Amino acid sequence: MDAVGRLKEKGVKVVFVLGGPGSGKGTQCANIVRVFGFTHLSAGDLLRAEIKSGSENGTMIQNMIKEGKIVPSEVTIKLLEKAMLENGNDKFLIDGFPRNEENRAAFEEVTKIEPEFVLFFDCPEEEMERRLLGRNQGRDDDNIETIRKRFKVFLESSLPVVDYYNLKGKVRKVDAAKPIDDVFESVKVIFSNFSKKGA
Ligand code: UDP
Ligand code: MG
Repeated sequence: MDAVGRLKEKGVKVVFVLGGPGSGKGTQCANIVRVFGFTHLSAGDLLRAEIKSGSENGTMIQNMIKEGKIVPSEVTIKLLEKAMLENGNDKFLIDGFPRNEENRAAFEEVTKIEPEFVLFFDCPEEEMERRLLGRNQGRDDDNIETIRKRFKVFLESSLPVVDYYNLKGKVRKVDAAKPIDDVFESVKVIFSNFSKKGA
């Protein structure tokens, strides 16, 4: 059976987690995993692992991340599809993807999966910048020059994806400028309602 068939057979359910760089996607995804039993797939982490593995695409991916650019859909979708098939779970948080319209359309086209909903972390740029410059995770895109580029890409390319799903009534927006625990309170309400529907 092909990948689409196997994803369908598994009955895979996906929630996209979107928000600017430093809006707290990774932090809150860890909380959601703990309480609601999802598996967290960070597109950025999968791409960074691909660089480390010494794959033939590694250098290209590394250069794009350093410039804050969006890696070709084909590459990211392959990694996401593989991760979903290798994992026994049937519900996934896809964090930091889709980042542009092309990512979105290609994912739906290739996997035939539509997200259950989109969790959107809304956060002012000054706050995101403060967090990114303070977090020091040794990432070579957490410098002020690359951060500015990432903000620009987020506004120009990623926000339209949120708008697209908003028109479909699929966006659940959270005020992400608040402290971590407060943000999670809002997130919990959203996921509790989703679980209740038996979906
Ligand atoms: N990236 C990408 N496609 C994706 C996810 C990430 O090209 O679907 C690249 C992009 O260059 C981005 C970087 O990986 O700026 C880091 O993404 P991540 O989500 O880890 O960081 P965030 O910007 O959300 O803090
Ligand atoms: Mg992240």
